[in-house]
Amino acid sequence: MQKSIERIAGDSEGVSYEFPVFRFEGLRFDGSDKSASSAYLQAALHAGELPGVVAIDALMPMLEKAEAEGRIKGDITVVPQANPIGRAQYHFGEHQGRFHLGTRTNFNRGFPLLAAPDVKLLPDTTLGTADQRLKTRLLQLSLGHDIVLDLHCDDEGLAYLYVHASLWPAMADCAAAMGVDAVILWDEDTDGTFEGASITPYLNVPAVVARFDRRVATTVEYRGILDVDGVLAGADAEGLYRLLVARGVILDQALSTSGSFTGPNSFTGPNSFTGPNSFTGIVAPLENIDMMPAPRAGAVLYDVKPGDRVAKGALLATIVHAPGEADGRTQVLAPQAGIILTRRSRRIIRAGEDLLKLVGDRKSADARSGTLED
Ligand SMILES: [Zn+2]
Repeated sequence: MQKSIERIAGDSEGVSYEFPVFRFEGLRFDGSDKSASSAYLQAALHAGELPGVVAIDALMPMLEKAEAEGRIKGDITVVPQANPIGRAQYHFGEHQGRFHLGTRTNFNRGFPLLAAPDVKLLPDTTLGTADQRLKTRLLQLSLGHDIVLDLHCDDEGLAYLYVHASLWPAMADCAAAMGVDAVILWDEDTDGTFEGASITPYLNVPAVVARFDRRVATTVEYRGILDVDGVLAGADAEGLYRLLVARGVILDQALSTSGSFTGPNSFTGPNSFTGPNSFTGIVAPLENIDMMPAPRAGAVLYDVKPGDRVAKGALLATIVHAPGEADGRTQVLAPQAGIILTRRSRRIIRAGEDLLKLVGDRKSADARSGTLED
């Protein structure tokens, strides 16, 4: 394993940012594994989203063990903390890791959407802003890998993946290996998420280059912002490891033959691994998601939590907008039947802000449901 330091020039003299990159080189000495899939993993592009960071921390010893035993077949690149700019942003004591304070741009928007997987097509950001330089560099680091995993988390939520429709159901084995609860399928990204920038270059190239049979690109939502937990991190690391074994990046005879992981920290929760190619969680198109805007500003009393199944018309939440007054409460009802995917971690809300994500059984009547919200 090799560690190197990436440096990103800041927006003023005397300011720069750095982050480490770890590379495991796949075995090629006998020439037999040239075709093994390669993998790129990054976490905390939204710099305050740490479940993926601790999952990578738990994964690294597993990768180092595999390397020591000569079981790494494909190149693996790991960026445990992808956003040193956002990591350093505090505003009046509160961490701000989602938007670049200098430009108000979401750190997971505005990635270049290339016409082909060729780093020569990347824009020159020398005279751009620091966040643009970071995005260009992250995309450059990831391009060319068969498997690209961008680890995020939601406010409060289930573990779920965003996956481009062209990769489904081919990626069902990955969802099963990772033990996530749900997969949300999307088909157009005009905002330039990292995931969108990872798959778009392959959409219009010949099938022999795109290789959708072995390609993986996903935004992983590891539950909620407070789910930074040793047990979950261990389970998530095992899920990532299983994915790497399932896709031939790492050789692990025990896993490959039994189809199940039996390590000491084996996760046995409701979303536990049930065998290869057997994803049994929720799969829904993005257009089925109802974002549920709050009708009033106030305090949120939730009647549902992530994972709950609701019927059409069920009470989702009550907004206390005029406490102590008659008619001071407003109820929010489910527009359709479905599963609660996420909800807010804070209980103060403005009118029009999203209360929760409901994965409906049908297409949402809300036009905003078509946007990638990671
Ligand atoms: Zn995020």
